[in-house]
Amino acid sequence: MAERDAVVVGAGPNGLAAAIVLARAGWSVEVFEAGETVGGGARSAELTLPGFLHDVCSAIYPLTVGTPFIPSLSLERYGLRWIHPPFPLAHPFDDGTAAVLARGFAETGESFGEPVDARAWERLFRPFSDRWMELSPDLLGPLGLPSHPFRMAHFGLVGLRGAAGLAKSRFRGFRARALFAGLAAHSFLPIEQIPTAAFGLMLGVTGHAVGWPQPEGGAQRIPDALAALLRDEGGTVHTGRLIKSLAELPRARVYLFDLTPAQLLEIEGIRWPEGYRRRLRRYRYGPGVFKLDWALSEPIPWRAEACRQAGTVHLGGPIEHVAASERAAWEGRDPTRPFTLVGQATLFDPTRAPAGKHTAWAYCHVPHGSTADFTELVENRIERFAPGFRDVVLARHTLNTAQLEAYNPNLIGGDINGGAATLAQLFTRPVARLVPYSTPDPRVYICSSSTPPSGGVHGMCGYYAATAALKSNQGDHP
Ligand SMILES: Cc1cc2nc3c(=O)[nH]c(=O)nc-3n(C[C@H](O)[C@H](O)[C@H](O)COP(=O)(O)OP(=O)(O)OC[C@H]3O[C@@H](n4cnc5c(N)ncnc54)[C@H](O)[C@@H]3O)c2cc1C
Repeated sequence: MAERDAVVVGAGPNGLAAAIVLARAGWSVEVFEAGETVGGGARSAELTLPGFLHDVCSAIYPLTVGTPFIPSLSLERYGLRWIHPPFPLAHPFDDGTAAVLARGFAETGESFGEPVDARAWERLFRPFSDRWMELSPDLLGPLGLPSHPFRMAHFGLVGLRGAAGLAKSRFRGFRARALFAGLAAHSFLPIEQIPTAAFGLMLGVTGHAVGWPQPEGGAQRIPDALAALLRDEGGTVHTGRLIKSLAELPRARVYLFDLTPAQLLEIEGIRWPEGYRRRLRRYRYGPGVFKLDWALSEPIPWRAEACRQAGTVHLGGPIEHVAASERAAWEGRDPTRPFTLVGQATLFDPTRAPAGKHTAWAYCHVPHGSTADFTELVENRIERFAPGFRDVVLARHTLNTAQLEAYNPNLIGGDINGGAATLAQLFTRPVARLVPYSTPDPRVYICSSSTPPSGGVHGMCGYYAATAALKSNQGDHP
């Protein structure tokens, strides 16, 4: 006899999302999390000095507000409040200017300094940004019949190509090209490769359609709100429980794992045939990241004014530099100019640092498993666009890929997306099956970012996995 309807292993955004869907369907649910707090890749901590609250992993949430599941939960009841910086993103250049991804097309276009590119940008993005909430469920899910087939076909026609080719064919000037390349680099693939243009499109569209907000008080507020809702729905969460075997868990009708394939292969007691295990072993992880956090006496002294108003700043230089960095990380070579993302939460949320003080968050793309220290390279890169940056640093904290994996076992080799987002793996991960969340052991489901729609704090993997588990067990449930 099962003691529980469902057990979820891992309380990342996807594990919590799966648990909420099941609890709301009337199932008894227990969650087991290895860390001392819930949240996985959405946690905050005082990493540098007392009173400075840093986001250990994720910090910016276009996909959280731009996908259907988490917004449907009304988490403001649990204290979650979104802050929208004036600009989602800025991308500075050596000449002191910056390209800007603003909510509005006019401001975005103005920053390119090329009216022809302003028009081309709007022509590219507007058809999708005007209908983003209709498009996103089709785009951010497993392969299936889309509910808006013509819009999806249009997106596929534009996005199923390399970002470098698309940027060069659509834009004349270096600013629009670089802005698009930086968006596409979130794929962690060489930007000449299919489907990097789709990543550039998707992230740009979210900037226009829903913004790139941050939660007041830090990343931890998101999983804390999810866990509070889960408890209200009758679920239980245990922390400090690193699970190595099904035998450590209560007997349950189904087990959902918010884990990636390399970890799943180590869990004892799962009944999978050798063929499925072999396919899991062949699953490809992507490049890693090197993470940095700073406590600052003042905001970063950017030369380009737009960077002081942006939640995120991409340090990538022109498209050629972004391309070289992404190719190097993908091919296992240390990039000399690593593509770097900088977040500056305290500019818009003073609750995260002592009065008048600031924090900054950054990561750069590095080879899978690299243990090199990129601090010097990243700080030089910030200094280049913000002379005097080092003078405002009070303290710093860094994590290389091995330290990230020790912090959260899902970050294999520093891969933050649960596996490479290649075309072959994007919609059918981790193994191509009719329902990729199910496995050959009918009790076991996978709900992590190693399933569609892959990385990001959106809970959609958990939502789809739980929905699949409910569907397969419809008749069995009392
Ligand atoms: C540095 C960094 C920056 C990022 N920036 C962003 C961003 O700005 N915006 C964004 O949307 N996304 C960002 N991401 C990605 C995002 O954090 C992940 O895609 C997301 O957290 C994946 O959710 P998940 O639930 O699948 O896995 P995770 O969040 O990784 O959660 C998995 C959980 O399972 C637990 N676990 C693992 N093994 C076991 C075990 N054996 N037993 C029990 N528990 C276990 C882990 O402790 C963890 O809590 C970033 C990630 C990193 C690392």
